[in-house]
Amino acid sequence: MNKFSGYRCSICGTEYLPGQVTYTCPKDGGNLDVVLDYETIKKKFQPEDITSRTESSLWRYLPLLPVNEPAGDSTPLHASGWTPVFALPRLAEKLHLKHLWLKDESRNPTASFKDRASAVVVTRAGEIKSEVVVTASTGNAGAALAGMAAAVGQKAVIFAPKSAPQAKVAQLLVFGAKVILVNGTYDDAFDLTVKASDEFGWYCRNTGYNPFTLEGKKTAAFEIWEWWIEAHRDWHKKDSALDNHSPLTIIVSVGDGNIISGIHKGFKDLFALGWIPNLPRIIGVQAEGSAAIANAFHAKTEKIKPVSAATIADSISVDLPRDGVRAVRAAAQTDGTYITVKDEDIIKAIAELGTMGVFAEPAGAAAYAGLVKGASLGVVGSDDPVLVMNTGSGLKDVRAALQAVQSAPVIEPTLEAVKKIL
Ligand SMILES: *Cc1c(COP(=O)(O)O)cnc(C)c1O
Ligand SMILES: [Zn+2]
Repeated sequence: MNKFSGYRCSICGTEYLPGQVTYTCPKDGGNLDVVLDYETIKKKFQPEDITSRTESSLWRYLPLLPVNEPAGDSTPLHASGWTPVFALPRLAEKLHLKHLWLKDESRNPTASFKDRASAVVVTRAGEIKSEVVVTASTGNAGAALAGMAAAVGQKAVIFAPKSAPQAKVAQLLVFGAKVILVNGTYDDAFDLTVKASDEFGWYCRNTGYNPFTLEGKKTAAFEIWEWWIEAHRDWHKKDSALDNHSPLTIIVSVGDGNIISGIHKGFKDLFALGWIPNLPRIIGVQAEGSAAIANAFHAKTEKIKPVSAATIADSISVDLPRDGVRAVRAAAQTDGTYITVKDEDIIKAIAELGTMGVFAEPAGAAAYAGLVKGASLGVVGSDDPVLVMNTGSGLKDVRAALQAVQSAPVIEPTLEAVKKIL
């Protein structure tokens, strides 16, 4: 049985059957939404059928996913998702916020949010029996694809810009992927990957281009939904005066726009099933030097104009975002917004998150930098409950991390020397 009924173009609305298309809309290149049969799901499942499951990975949400669970039960594919949420009380106080949490996606198997997408795409690749999976990547999507592919013994080819941080390239190589470094930008690598997958018949995971990346990424929304039911209950217990508080605000960094669109899709699924009464507010954060989606949002258009991207946050450095239209809608349709941040604010955010025991790569810390700016501008109110996503681990880019802190002193191994520097 097909686990989904087809695809719908996010631009022209044309619907396609599952076997009819693979990537984007043949008419206008629009991103395709996977269409689920909500009526059937609703008849078969209640929210409790999911929230009572013991599975602690994204496969917990199997009834809402367009693939079947991969075979075997102890691979990194089965360890993707179900990431922890931490309270950040000291940072909340600093920002004059009452309630602040962070969902730490660096705990995924290859240390970024991208594992959610890759776990689902590799599963799909198995179902359609493709021999080789390929992706363009600034590093994380590739590491996630290479890691998941290695786990199931599938061949992977990764195209990354030659400027990708060393730790990410090391991950790709250690996972045994065929790694090709492109003398160009992420966007150059993206276009080359599409051409290569057409030419060689490889299954292309490119972010946004492949409709299944969004389906993997939406599982973060399902986790937030489950977490919020609990957190919200505790919150009300402590302060019963809080009856008409604002909805949850989710803040996430944005490059191609696929994560923010995925989170939006997850909540739209829950809403369509009648499992939530309204959607949370979704705020996207971009680096000032890579702000094509934020620019479009603030110009009130869905026409995304490419930029010439330059930012320390390599994972969100994108000239032409490949999921821009849906990313604009994620904020526009949830009363959210877009915030842009400077590289120096991103570096500062790495250090601030560090004080709470969270180690974020620049793109992950960008979301927190956006919150700092949003709180100071009043875009985020002091009563608003806020959840910030950390999308990737600081270990991915130690060069950037070292810019956020003072270097450590080197001393002679004597107590006197210790006293001198204390
Ligand atoms: C890919 C990535 C993002 C941005 O996701 P998009 O889908 O490109 O918007 C943010 N942070 C990290 C760490 C990433 O790897
Ligand atoms: Zn279309």
